[in-house]
Amino acid sequence: MLGLMQSQPLLISSLIDFAARHHGDAQIVSRRVEGDIHRYTYRDLSARSKQLANAIEALGLAQGERVASLAWNGYRHMEMYFGVSGSGRVLHTINPRLHPDQIAWIVGHAEDRVLCFDTTFLPIVKAIHDKCPTVQKWVLLCDADKLPADTGIPGLCSYEDWIGGHSTDYIWPQFDENTASSLCYTSGTTGNPKAALYSHRSTTLHAYAAALPDVMGLSARDSVLPVVPMFHVNAWGVPYSAALTGAKVVFPGPALDGKSLYELMEAEGVTYAAGVPTIWQMLLGYMQPNGLRFSTLKRTVIGGSACPPAMITTFQDVFGVEVLHAWGMTEMSPLGTLCTLKNKHLELPADEKMKILQKQGRAIYGVDMKIVNELGQEQPWDGKSYGDLLVRGPWIIDSYFKGEGTPLVYDEQGRGWFPTGDVATIDADGFMQITDRSKDVIKSGGEWISSIDIENIAMAHPAVAMAACIGMFHPKWDERPIVAVALKAQAVLGREELLAFFEGKTAKWQIPDDVVFVDAIPLGATGKMLKTRLREMLAGYKLPGL
Ligand code: ADP
Repeated sequence: MLGLMQSQPLLISSLIDFAARHHGDAQIVSRRVEGDIHRYTYRDLSARSKQLANAIEALGLAQGERVASLAWNGYRHMEMYFGVSGSGRVLHTINPRLHPDQIAWIVGHAEDRVLCFDTTFLPIVKAIHDKCPTVQKWVLLCDADKLPADTGIPGLCSYEDWIGGHSTDYIWPQFDENTASSLCYTSGTTGNPKAALYSHRSTTLHAYAAALPDVMGLSARDSVLPVVPMFHVNAWGVPYSAALTGAKVVFPGPALDGKSLYELMEAEGVTYAAGVPTIWQMLLGYMQPNGLRFSTLKRTVIGGSACPPAMITTFQDVFGVEVLHAWGMTEMSPLGTLCTLKNKHLELPADEKMKILQKQGRAIYGVDMKIVNELGQEQPWDGKSYGDLLVRGPWIIDSYFKGEGTPLVYDEQGRGWFPTGDVATIDADGFMQITDRSKDVIKSGGEWISSIDIENIAMAHPAVAMAACIGMFHPKWDERPIVAVALKAQAVLGREELLAFFEGKTAKWQIPDDVVFVDAIPLGATGKMLKTRLREMLAGYKLPGL
């Protein structure tokens, strides 16, 4: 017997309709590429998303065709989130930090028909447009009078010109909620990138889940600043969850340095922010020497790579800001776990709480997870046994876009699990902790060393700005860890002093064999440490004594 409830597809257009109707005057504030501040409301966002949808209809794009963006976080990009997907086309958010050849490859693979880009990325588009035969329309995200002449890009028009003549009346089409909505390629640190193709259903369910109190905990009283880019897994879903809750949104545009972020947060009363650890490193690096404090910021989600415990403590103890450590992947829309305490933990001493809060956290309803050994056998949730982390759920991929076969691993009940490539432990309370990416785990004498643990200790040293731990070949132990360290400006620290700092903080055999001082740790396209490049940098390196 079926239930007798209304059956309405979960569509992205319903989010913007809801925001316009119930939070019509809530603000969306953007720092533009030009440097000025743009301000409008969800009502305006809705109207302009509809203009964009009409412009796409006029172009004759079929349902499911791809419209791409190469853009910073801003209001026009948000209009694309709703106008493109809402009208039944697929929004392909491209990471502009990828190599131009890789961008051209991605555009061809996705068969993008329209590509909208910020002025910052004009040089990239100039370099690749003739290698992108699928693109029939190039659009510069700017005012009509800012369109430069003679770019050499055929038919280039300004976004305002493109949508300006179209009506703000548009009835969002209704279709199956499993219809594709958006496309996001992983960073492709090994080989060509692979893409997750999200659906309206997966995106909407993820938006609901992300807004829950133990997840992002967004509300209509928040002013949220997604520093995480809209080209990096849809800014972790913040634009959708913000529309769902009616939160004020503050977009930083291209100005991601500590000073610009701090000033924007203070000016716009930001209560909530989200970003990768390297961004917060820069923000704190600006605030601390200048003796600055937040007057409105209450919480920040930090994820994408392990958040060093020292950063959690600084935010909490020095700035009074709660850190929510989060873990996820492009293939998971991206949220999988978030770290918040349970009721029974509230009375624990501060250091016990901190031990929990530095973990990647508990699964969100909708995500099931398990750890398995190399034989695929499930490992106990005891906080010690580690294994490959597998996940399943309605916002986790089933297969890659144009992929061959499925990446899933099937259990005895025929249920498919996505192998994350991460190695983790899970404790009795369900708190998951990432040991490493499986390819980064250091195997020393048959035992594993977590590179994240070593980095966390090094980064707790006040002189260290960033640390990356990698394994180096050793004839007896297979691999031994070394730590590459970038120091804070004007800081002085010697090799022996840092190695001594590890004493008592980890088992003796896990202490790195050496310290290599570098000017900067190489970062990848999404702000994560790029260990492959670090290995290249240290190509001629030999462990001491070999
Ligand atoms: P890409 O794989 O393209 O770099 P993703 O953003 O999908 O981009 O990366 C997902 C991976 O990032 C995870 O599998 C995990 O290894 C790492 N990661 C994400 N969040 C965390 C975290 N909080 N702690 C440790 N690692 C993390």
